Amino acid sequence: MRVKKKVHEKIVVETANMDGHAGQSVSIWMATAALPTFSALTKSEHADVCIVGAGIVGLTTAYLLARAGKSVVVLDDGPIASGETERTTAHLCTTLDDRYFELERLHGAKGAQLAAQSHAAAIDEIERIVLEEKIDCDFERLDGYLFVPPGESPDLLERELAAAHRVGLNDVRMVAHSPLVSFDTGPTLHFPRQAQFHPLKYLAALARAIIRNGGHIYTQTHATKIAGGNPARIETQDGLAVTAEAVVVATNTPVNDLLAMHTKQSAYRTFAIGAIVPAGSISKGLYWDTLYPYHYIRLQALPAEPSSPTPSDLLIVGGEDHKTGQANDAEMRYSRLEEWARTRFHVLISSRCSPPRLGRCIAPPCAMVGPSS
Ligand SMILES: Cc1cc2nc3c(=O)[nH]c(=O)nc-3n(C[C@H](O)[C@H](O)[C@H](O)COP(=O)(O)OP(=O)(O)OC[C@H]3O[C@@H](n4cnc5c(N)ncnc54)[C@H](O)[C@@H]3O)c2cc1C
Repeated sequence: MRVKKKVHEKIVVETANMDGHAGQSVSIWMATAALPTFSALTKSEHADVCIVGAGIVGLTTAYLLARAGKSVVVLDDGPIASGETERTTAHLCTTLDDRYFELERLHGAKGAQLAAQSHAAAIDEIERIVLEEKIDCDFERLDGYLFVPPGESPDLLERELAAAHRVGLNDVRMVAHSPLVSFDTGPTLHFPRQAQFHPLKYLAALARAIIRNGGHIYTQTHATKIAGGNPARIETQDGLAVTAEAVVVATNTPVNDLLAMHTKQSAYRTFAIGAIVPAGSISKGLYWDTLYPYHYIRLQALPAEPSSPTPSDLLIVGGEDHKTGQANDAEMRYSRLEEWARTRFHVLISSRCSPPRLGRCIAPPCAMVGPSS
């Protein structure tokens, strides 16, 4: 249970802008998906379960409960998926932010195994839902590659390989280099059967399925007070209330308890840029280096446009994270990220403002967060 929770312990915490989104930038996902819209709560309601937060955690919870026959009410103070989820780079992987040998040190053998199992199970579950609901969301299985920066010893990869096998990821292998041809990654850990998807196309379908299964979603509805108990009671900014047998606070970091979790987390800002490249010119995969902060890379097929009929991919490169409040040099970080991408992939960055751009995150100090988040 604890491990599952850790997967999602990062959050965009920018003050919501006027239209309820948690930031000013427009991600590639926001630009290429139409999300269903919902209205605000206008009368008090009762449900088996009330879920506060309509990001990937809240909507997944609501979908699974609705499918299990429970009545659900979802509340979000923006549009759906308008928090961190709309700015993720959506690598679905068992390659975690922190190395498995580090997780073993922090959480013991069992804890590290649970981390691996829960991440693998989460990917399987998304795949199962995609197939069951026939969701067209660019979901695909693909391989992940972890490599060290130039000149650095691959010893860390050897240690991680041994730890990956100990936690049950027996198909992880060391390969001579990744499939990237524009630069040599050197010895690389190969993680098979990772995945990527278009998170907003996925969540649009999930939201529709929730409604089809009898659930209710209300947006522009801010939960001002959340009290557990029987019944649980969630009060909103308009003086309305939802009562429920259970409440799930899926606001990424809990808004009902500002002490227990928040004292164990740190806020981070991360940066991502996009470069349009000819489709297929860069080998599809999920890629990470082991720098601190590390770089994370993936590709996303772009929809064909009349103005550019040649199919293209968006090369997404992220990194340059820093603790929020401890740096104020975003332009320099974007420049470094661009330089890093340019020298390795020989690409022109499409636009400094091109999506996806940045998110501000909260990370736990004890590792176990999903990659590139
Ligand atoms: C640039 C970037 C790259 C990332 N890459 C990856 C990756 O490759 N792989 C990965 O696994 N993770 C990644 N992450 C992390 C991942 O995006 C998040 O862990 C995930 O989206 C969090 O989902 P969530 O549902 O918990 O939170 P959110 O998506 O933030 O949803 C929480 C929702 O709660 C709502 N809310 C908050 N307070 C209230 C309230 N009081 N009343 C009503 N509603 C409220 C918000 O409006 C929001 O919609 C990345 C993050 C960023 C920023």
